[in-house]
Amino acid sequence: MTTPPDAEARRAVEPVICYPVKTLPQPDMALLDAARATMAKTGEVTVPARDAATFEVPAGHFFRITSVEGAQVGDLNLWNARDLSERFYSGKTRALHGTHVTRGARMRSSFPQLRAMATLTHDSLAWYGKDAFGGSVHDVIGTRCDPYTHNLLSGGQYHHCCHSNLTRALAAHLDVSVAEAEPHVHDVLNVFMCTGFMRDTGQYFMKASPVRPGDTLEFFAEIDLLGALSACPGGDCSTVHSSDQAACFPLLVEIFAPDPATLKGWQSPPANGYNRSHGAPSTASFGQ
Ligand SMILES: [Zn+2]
Repeated sequence: MTTPPDAEARRAVEPVICYPVKTLPQPDMALLDAARATMAKTGEVTVPARDAATFEVPAGHFFRITSVEGAQVGDLNLWNARDLSERFYSGKTRALHGTHVTRGARMRSSFPQLRAMATLTHDSLAWYGKDAFGGSVHDVIGTRCDPYTHNLLSGGQYHHCCHSNLTRALAAHLDVSVAEAEPHVHDVLNVFMCTGFMRDTGQYFMKASPVRPGDTLEFFAEIDLLGALSACPGGDCSTVHSSDQAACFPLLVEIFAPDPATLKGWQSPPANGYNRSHGAPSTASFGQ
């Protein structure tokens, strides 16, 4: 390995933000706060430990995930309820909002729509901030625990990873086979999970979640949503996942409808404005 003479000078170059968000349309949090002050519960589903459940949220409604019984992490998938090809895009959400999300951040959807599908309206763990290890809560870094990575690292057949839980729940919701449902499962928002990167190796770490029963993370549905939430087999993710060793607890999902009058001026965001021609001559008029 040869180190160039100007190595330190090159390292000393200051970084710039990849995606400055000054031009990003901002949610009207005052309007959403006024709406949530009027909201009334319309439904709920309990996600059993080491399992997943689905739920639907009409555009303009709220949904809230609550820790019940014990410290528990949840893996969240979101789809456009009318078109499952539009789904939560963890990577672009991370690029725009950073590694961890809290109130005011928006869950972005996949190409070509790339729009805000949900806005975070309340986070009872917002006080946590960043800890001494660089850890924070609700990440869009991790993908979801899955039986393939588990098999690669440890062998064996474990069937209650979040990936499998989400697959089974979606299959049941759509009344299709797990083989048909599995390709729709995607990288998650890790609700209540406390994670970061090791400073020396850059490895993804997890630590015991600061979540306690009663803590909540709440969202406003910007479009009609189908959601699936898995109560991770890692429990509070303090030690291991992809096994039945950790203490696991259910999670509660509640749906709320606000007084529609409070949403005056709010509109479901349109699909992205790019015309999708990609500069190709033969398709230059596509989407015009
Ligand atoms: Zn998991």
